[in-house]
Amino acid sequence: MLNETVNLGEKGIVFDIQRFSVHDGPGIRTIVFLKGCPLSCRWCSNPESQCREPQVMFISKNCIGCGKCKEVCPVNAVDFKLPYRIDQEKCIKCGKCVENCYANALEMSGIEKTVEEVIGELKKDNMYYRRSGGGITLSGGEALVQVDFVEELLKGCRANRWNTAVETAAFTSQQVLRRILPFLDLVLMDIKHMDSKKHREYIGQGNEIILENARIIAGSGTQLIIRVPVIPGFNDDEDNIVKLSEFVVSLKNVREIHLLPYHRLGENKYSYLGYKYKMPPIDPPSSKDMNRLKNIVEKFGLVCKIGGVS
Ligand code: SF4
Ligand code: SF4
Repeated sequence: MLNETVNLGEKGIVFDIQRFSVHDGPGIRTIVFLKGCPLSCRWCSNPESQCREPQVMFISKNCIGCGKCKEVCPVNAVDFKLPYRIDQEKCIKCGKCVENCYANALEMSGIEKTVEEVIGELKKDNMYYRRSGGGITLSGGEALVQVDFVEELLKGCRANRWNTAVETAAFTSQQVLRRILPFLDLVLMDIKHMDSKKHREYIGQGNEIILENARIIAGSGTQLIIRVPVIPGFNDDEDNIVKLSEFVVSLKNVREIHLLPYHRLGENKYSYLGYKYKMPPIDPPSSKDMNRLKNIVEKFGLVCKIGGVS
């Protein structure tokens, strides 16, 4: 794969790059977060990832009401009557309001970057990747939504001999999977519920494509780890965890499940975007509950770890 030609000019919309992660694959890693997701999980902790396009976030608690944003907006998209200050229909994402807000009440989520620019960022940590066996993990949103960008970026990482991983819900076509799997060392794949009806109710889509894609990834030779965001009252019952474990046991070469406890860390960001947080006021699962689920998984001879970020 080292001889693949890389289109360094391919562009993607990136909303964050986090360095020095040790949770999302082997060694020290950089997580590149991409915009866009075809699912709509109610508990999503990165709501700014769902829309494919850049978005202005309005952090109302920081606003001092100076009116500068309204003054500089070229299309009159700033409306003080809206709880979420920006009229999305009118906004052309020029960023002028963000540049001129000195109170840090406005932030642009998502910026267009070329593969070359991202590789340049990653090269800063080349030494750490080499010493720790680490590399890059693509996340989102659903990273595979931007498959052209992802494919070129992964080729670029391979050319640099960095370890490559993706966090995905795998709600995508088989063609997309076949394009990127040759450039991946590890897939961290979410399975949120084994019952398709319940999956659709909470996530907006059934699980058939996801389960079929798990089989394809498992059969590809790329390492696959299954991750489950544990949401109390949705998927934390014994029946679901047993069915999930049975499914994972049936996959070729897959022996590891990570259970990720639900948290509410992204809740504030919903209001920054003018969205409603649809989760009921439930508490994160206790460590006793998580260990109960871990014990069920381990009875199937699988390795089970608790933790990580969903
Ligand atoms: S520029 Fe910033 S601080 Fe001033 S009104 Fe607009 S959002 Fe508020
Ligand atoms: S990003 Fe540009 S168009 Fe959108 S609200 Fe800000 S200034 Fe107006």
